[in-house]
Amino acid sequence: METYDALLASITPDTGETRTILDPATGEPVGEAPVHSVEDLEAAIAAAAAAQPAWAALGHDARSAALLKAADAVERSAEELARLLSREQGKPLNGPNARFEVGACAAWLRVAAGTPLEAEVVVDDGETRAELHYRPIGVVGAIGPWNWPMMITVWQIAPALRMGNAVVVKPSEYTPLSVLALAKVLNEELPEGLLTVVSGGRDVGARLAGHPAIGKVMFTGSTATGKAIIRSSSDTVKRLTLELGGNDAGIVLPDADPKAIAEGLFWGAFINTGQTCAALKRLYVHDSLYEAVCEELTSVAAAMPMGNGLDENNVLGPLQNRQQYEIVARLVDAARNSGARILLGGNPDPDQPGHFYPATLVAEIDNNNPLVAEEQFGPALPIIRYSDVDEAVTMANALDVGLGASVWSSDPARAREIAARLEAGTVWINKHGAVDPRVPFGGAKQSGYGLEFGVEGLKALGVPQVING
Ligand code: NAD
Repeated sequence: METYDALLASITPDTGETRTILDPATGEPVGEAPVHSVEDLEAAIAAAAAAQPAWAALGHDARSAALLKAADAVERSAEELARLLSREQGKPLNGPNARFEVGACAAWLRVAAGTPLEAEVVVDDGETRAELHYRPIGVVGAIGPWNWPMMITVWQIAPALRMGNAVVVKPSEYTPLSVLALAKVLNEELPEGLLTVVSGGRDVGARLAGHPAIGKVMFTGSTATGKAIIRSSSDTVKRLTLELGGNDAGIVLPDADPKAIAEGLFWGAFINTGQTCAALKRLYVHDSLYEAVCEELTSVAAAMPMGNGLDENNVLGPLQNRQQYEIVARLVDAARNSGARILLGGNPDPDQPGHFYPATLVAEIDNNNPLVAEEQFGPALPIIRYSDVDEAVTMANALDVGLGASVWSSDPARAREIAARLEAGTVWINKHGAVDPRVPFGGAKQSGYGLEFGVEGLKALGVPQVING
């Protein structure tokens, strides 16, 4: 792909219904997305089912080689992809944002291609030889959200393709162009029909989740939609991997160094302007260093430029959509009205075009306040005071979600002790939200089930088969 305009033109439909996608920073049009129907979905599933057996027959080595070439293709078009992602999603090119996301797509493809997966000999005692293999599932459905649209699509499709499946992707209605462009680039290196994006609405998602020809659904999105998908999938007993909502807690222990941890805390909470499932959403800070942590965090946050993503200076962007903006504004206003202290932000400029909400820090807030208890999914961080570590652990574990959590301390052994008591799929120490394609990732409680990444992530895209002779 040579230029941004050529990439955009290549995904712009010549015929059929389209929808104009608007830049969340300016309100200006970014491009036209196709509005695909359930009939388009049927055609994509039929093409996938036709392409899948030959792809499966290639074997792991040839499929891995194709995925490595697909990673190269992403890198060749990296700047154009990042620009489109920035314009559609809002995230800046710079910082841990659009270029970082495109880079992660290539990295995840490479690790999915390079992770060894051998048949396991479970028993071999002279009488019984039992081996555990993983066969392809067939056609996998991938349904994704709008916050990290390219990276999460790769998280879903890279292991699916590696394991010999075909994939039909249903992107979020908010960010279809990013996913269409990514698939266009990947398809430079993949057989026809194997990977198709169906840019439809919830009706298309629901049909995909219930379709008899879909063997597994990889879903990343809200807990409410995850529950709807469980229901849609039940008649056909579909396999599911569900990465759902979170509301991650971080606990700062009394021995932490406020200055040393402030920047890590900031990015743990504000990466992608807070629109991240496993971002730090509730910070519990010990009484003895509460003021110091508030001060250090405020000075780091105040220095982070927010604005149009195409401006290289910016590292924070707008909320992707008005609905999300309204959720954040409502929860911060409710916190203010309850008597909480706004350390920074909370004062969006009503005359600014776009869905910009400033980075907001809220102190002296009660643990039951909705800004703490609900997933606000934006650039606001409530900082809750505690005096007893057991009390902090109880508060951290009190919600019915448990995606990530973190412990901040100068004593690694003490931090691990507290980490083991937290009900979350991942607990980070002195960092938050750092995902890695080699390390399994998944939620506890209503944050979902099933693991992604690493060898566990590959196994989740196969049907286990025991050969017992
Ligand atoms: P969402 O649940 O509203 O939408 C996700 C996708 O599901 C969209 O493509 C949507 O069209 C589709 N969908 C909607 N109704 C459907 C139905 N009945 N059947 C099938 N598909 C349907 O989520 P969102 O607002 O796009 O994303 C934000 C949420 O995603 C947050 O809760 C966030 O925590 C979560 N998330 C989780 C992870 C994770 O790894 N756990 C990662 C990113 C985002």
